[in-house]
Amino acid sequence: MATLPSSSPSPTGSPPPGEPAAGLPDRGAPVEQVLAEVAGLCADDHDYRDGTVFNSICSTPLPVAERVFAAHQQANLGDNRIFPSLARAEREVTAMLADLMDGPGATGVATSGGTEANLLAVQAAVRRHRARFGPDAPARILLGDSAHFSFDKIAALLPVEVVRVPSDERLRVDLDRLLPLVTPETALVVATAGSSESGAVDDVPAIAAHAAPLGVPVHVDAATGGFLVPFARESGEPLPPIGFSVPGVTSVTLDPHKYGGAPIPAGHVLFRDAEDGAALRTSSHYRGTFDHQALLGTRPGGAVLATWAALRAQGRSGYRSAVAELWERRALLVRLLTGAGFQVAPEPELTVVTVRHPSPEKLVDALEERGLIASVARRLGLLRLVVHWHQSEQQLRCLVAVLTEVDGGRP
Ligand SMILES: *Cc1c(COP(=O)(O)O)cnc(C)c1O
Repeated sequence: MATLPSSSPSPTGSPPPGEPAAGLPDRGAPVEQVLAEVAGLCADDHDYRDGTVFNSICSTPLPVAERVFAAHQQANLGDNRIFPSLARAEREVTAMLADLMDGPGATGVATSGGTEANLLAVQAAVRRHRARFGPDAPARILLGDSAHFSFDKIAALLPVEVVRVPSDERLRVDLDRLLPLVTPETALVVATAGSSESGAVDDVPAIAAHAAPLGVPVHVDAATGGFLVPFARESGEPLPPIGFSVPGVTSVTLDPHKYGGAPIPAGHVLFRDAEDGAALRTSSHYRGTFDHQALLGTRPGGAVLATWAALRAQGRSGYRSAVAELWERRALLVRLLTGAGFQVAPEPELTVVTVRHPSPEKLVDALEERGLIASVARRLGLLRLVVHWHQSEQQLRCLVAVLTEVDGGRP
């Protein structure tokens, strides 16, 4: 069916072969020229607001967050002597996020995103496991097939043995297969609160209830769902609690740059027990400079200030109404898709809507030819559409109209 334009990334995921990039120019160029060149460089990019983006869990930041970010680009969280404000801002963001996750006493570290946050959670678990079982104790980590692929990177970096557990028919980790694998020697169990492929939320309370009596820590990867689940639960959605109100949850990843209104790069990891955060400490070589807990050294303080601003500007009421609106749009999208004869399955839990189709790749290619970006969850063989606050009702109607038009494969 549709052939991809040559500039598109290949469906296998490797970048396309391009013209070789030029070297560093001998002479600098005037500002206006550079700006025009940058505009040219970015000419193919989509704007979240133009109604073509249906694959992204990230979106435009809130205007206040954009302004704060732009005004604090030099802010370096790695230097508390030049920027004493930043440690304070990080502490206050931690406190606000901890409150969101029902863990008022939790400690935390601002990160570049969910990947680094998950890495720190695993690193803390490994260090504590080794403190308990000895420096050579193998650190086995259990996670669902639906867990994010950041854990594949983490497994390549840290001395852990990762055991992946298949999903059930709702695409959550299959408890019947996971729970028997948890033993007192397990270093960590990871639960996903909103898989990025399907939005499936693992049964965090059941996992933690099983792991806690065995002394096994539970990390909740709520990079997708952290700003969604608490507010959806308030309005009666049948979702489990995912935060520290669940006994046995020891750490949580959040991604303010997804549904939190913060700019990229803004992630966060929270720890119930301060000892976990302490296990991450690396002492600085410089007098008066705080120990580091994050992976990065020079760190984007502007993102932390912008996250602080987004949290302050939204408050619970702002996120509550944003989530209510997302749920309305999701309902509309599901209604439109079903009305057009598409099979939405499994039933969406968060903002990812998946559609069963005999050839989702062809559908997505055909959409792309018309300028619309959707995605295929390759491991699941499902068309994947992400509802976000950059889309209007009209744009969702347009998406389904185009999908219907390009879907030659159906009777
Ligand atoms: C996005 C995401 C991550 C990775 O976060 P980045 O910010 O992309 O590094 C991890 N886990 C889940 C569930 C995610 O949705």
